[in-house]
Amino acid sequence: MGVLDRLRGEGYNFLDRYVFGSSYDEQLEIRRKNLCADAFVASSNAVSIGGALVNIDGDGNRVAALSFGPRRVYLFVGRNKICDDLEKAIYRARNVASVGLAIQYGMNTPCAKPGTCHDCASPDRVCSYVSIIEHCTPPGRISLFLINEDLGL
Ligand code: SF4
Repeated sequence: MGVLDRLRGEGYNFLDRYVFGSSYDEQLEIRRKNLCADAFVASSNAVSIGGALVNIDGDGNRVAALSFGPRRVYLFVGRNKICDDLEKAIYRARNVASVGLAIQYGMNTPCAKPGTCHDCASPDRVCSYVSIIEHCTPPGRISLFLINEDLGL
């Protein structure tokens, strides 16, 4: 969508965790600062028709920021992430998004080769933190933009 390029190029105080060559510790520090940002931009792993957001993180930084911290949250979500109900949204977040991430990053997890979750305890586990948001408090803090394209995991 070009969002990263615009945030980098248009004079924002952008807390960019994708800085080339940065160490894990440096990225961790940026993630910590993200929690006090005015605005947080991300996607959601799954959205139920009823409006619940389901997200799974390896480190928990995104699910933390979605729940509390940044004043505003903007989520950009492709149509492929819309699920019929909460149960299917949880299934998608685990078995499509998390497994896909493990494959994409070549993690040493049991799901990375067969492509199915084995509920592992691997040190590389990509899905340690599970979040379900059923209601936005305070009202209007989270804005969800549904995009009529298949986008992301
Ligand atoms: S629990 Fe383990 S096997 Fe299952 S999706 Fe997460 S990392 Fe993969």
